[in-house]
Amino acid sequence: MSKEADVVIVGTGVAGLFCALNLPEHYKIIMITKKQPEDSDSFLAQGGISVLKDQNDYETYFEDTLRAGRYKNNKESVEVLIRSSRSIIEDLVGLGVNFEREGTDFSYTREGAHSINRILYYKDVTGKEITEKLLEQVKKKSNITILPFVTMIDILEKDNTCTGVVLKDGDTIYNIASGAVVWATGGIGGLFEHSTNMKHLTGDAIAIAIKHNVKLLDMNYVQIHPTTLYTKGEGRSFLISESVRGEGAILLNKEGQRFVDELLPRDVVSTAIFEQMKKDDRDYVYLSLRHIPKDKIQERFPNIYEKCLEEGYDLATDLLPVTPAQHYFMGGVQINIDGETSMKNLFAVGETSCNGVHGANRLASNSLLEALVFSKRAANVIDENLKSMGLQNIGTTVNNNQYNTEQLEKEYHKLVWDELNKGSVEYGRLCKHEG
Ligand SMILES: Cc1cc2nc3c(=O)[nH]c(=O)nc-3n(C[C@H](O)[C@H](O)[C@H](O)COP(=O)(O)OP(=O)(O)OC[C@H]3O[C@@H](n4cnc5c(N)ncnc54)[C@H](O)[C@@H]3O)c2cc1C
Repeated sequence: MSKEADVVIVGTGVAGLFCALNLPEHYKIIMITKKQPEDSDSFLAQGGISVLKDQNDYETYFEDTLRAGRYKNNKESVEVLIRSSRSIIEDLVGLGVNFEREGTDFSYTREGAHSINRILYYKDVTGKEITEKLLEQVKKKSNITILPFVTMIDILEKDNTCTGVVLKDGDTIYNIASGAVVWATGGIGGLFEHSTNMKHLTGDAIAIAIKHNVKLLDMNYVQIHPTTLYTKGEGRSFLISESVRGEGAILLNKEGQRFVDELLPRDVVSTAIFEQMKKDDRDYVYLSLRHIPKDKIQERFPNIYEKCLEEGYDLATDLLPVTPAQHYFMGGVQINIDGETSMKNLFAVGETSCNGVHGANRLASNSLLEALVFSKRAANVIDENLKSMGLQNIGTTVNNNQYNTEQLEKEYHKLVWDELNKGSVEYGRLCKHEG
């Protein structure tokens, strides 16, 4: 079986969906996702989305992003991110996305390493609000087809030009030839023992990039989130958003004493927690909201409050045990500010890509924004390219019998893991490979 499309987008998180919505409607677009379209990290984002508050905020926002990124950021990418932020928010509002408001103006919150309140949010489910609305719009488009429970296992390539994808649907392997391929496959948390990410996000595009010599960047920049709910159970670590600390929650050791400024950059707070855990000889420290009125906690963080209650903790009265976990991948498939990779007609957007915008450590709430800004730019370039290419398909084929799908997953995990380990990945004990 083989199919054709003008554009294949792998991934239905914010990056993939926004790219699809920004492509002209005369293109035939096929979107692929490993699970249901709703099963993406984008749906999990709690805290919010950063935005340039006003023109006076530019220098401060730029400096906050660079300071969090330990000045390893690509400044051009940061400039594009910040300068595009307000128009992206206008796009989202135009597509029906709600943000909290005070009167007619937006309401802004704050997270670690931001100098001012510049984060837009919707309750504590901002990612769901944005992604659900984008998905609703995509489903209305007759030129876009979503194929759920289909996995990209390779790309079609000829002379460093990408000509399509190889897919696995149950036991069937087939190809889609296309004028452009967009990787929007998210992060790598599924490779880690403790991660806030969905388990099926295992950096497949990065493995395929390695296989085809597509350039990667900043592969040793893995972000550890300081505060996830500590449990002995298996499965995804539940995130306690940084905005909880932004709204006043404090970290305590086993003696009930504060040991760190809770709003320092994530890597600094994580390191302080690891050190405290060692001193306390425990696998967690405490997060306390006991000084915050219960109605405020319930109103501001309804989802987090309920989840903690299910686990036996009332945030208004109990100390919450928290521990760091893998959360975000700053590195990935190298792109420029237009989402172009080192392979012709192959684009990468969102968490799977890297143009150095986050440097060594992402500033809180910059990733939804990054996914939206650069996927829109990629869509514009894809349109230009397809117009000039005249949509010819090179029509490369591969022998689908070559794929031993049972082995492939393990091989891909190992490829990514080995690449991560070439650098100095921090907090080694979290980085236990599952495969
Ligand atoms: C718990 C949590 C809270 C967060 N909170 C915030 C926040 O408040 N603000 C913020 O800015 N960021 C936040 N982030 C980060 C942010 O949500 C992600 O970086 C962003 O949503 C990534 O979007 P994406 O489109 O790149 O990838 P995702 O949304 O992860 O989507 C990846 C898609 O790729 C598909 N896929 C992967 N591999 C394959 C394959 N081989 N074949 C087919 N399909 C494949 C998946 O099925 C999925 O559809 C949070 C992340 C988590 C986990």
